[in-house]
Amino acid sequence: MIDLCPRSRYYEAMIRALFPGSFDPPTNGHINIVRRAAGIFDAVSIVIAVNPHKHYTFSAEERYGMMQELVTDMDNVDVHLWDRLIVEFADREDAKVMIRGVRALDDFEYEFELSMLNKGLNPRVETILMPTDPQYFVLRSSAIKELARLGGDISTMVPPPVVTAIERKLKQEARA
Ligand code: ADP
Repeated sequence: MIDLCPRSRYYEAMIRALFPGSFDPPTNGHINIVRRAAGIFDAVSIVIAVNPHKHYTFSAEERYGMMQELVTDMDNVDVHLWDRLIVEFADREDAKVMIRGVRALDDFEYEFELSMLNKGLNPRVETILMPTDPQYFVLRSSAIKELARLGGDISTMVPPPVVTAIERKLKQEARA
């Protein structure tokens, strides 16, 4: 007799996605995207951008350390630092999917353009845009840092280790 619903022969196909960004610092919005992507793909590699021409609040090592700590409960997620084009990382690692999160229309425009640019650089990598979950809609690393500088409560916006790291950074800045 014919089995009408056999498991697809692709049942165990592996797909690994990259999630690149500055993560300066990681927010609950970023972690939400990581968690959701990790639930869809077999593996997710977070790729932290290191651009010597860009000013970051947190050093590459600090961003890496924070991100590592935030994903320890996710078995299929790892973290990398990368100082070249993300599409080169994708090629080296043979990853074919790149996730980017989108909040609002201006994010979409930027991400859409970036995906076109990356497609031109490396047509083997597909960008997948993942809309934010509603509660993270307003979370943006730069705004969170600004809010913290003004004494605002950021504890619902970033995970506890990031709250501590931002407070430490503000104290360092105040001493400098
Ligand atoms: P960039 O790579 O442009 O420096 P970030 O490090 O801030 O950006 O963010 C990395 C990715 O996460 C980007 O695709 C960005 O749109 C997305 N992202 C940032 N904040 C949120 C959020 N609150 N919800 C969903 N996606 C987000």
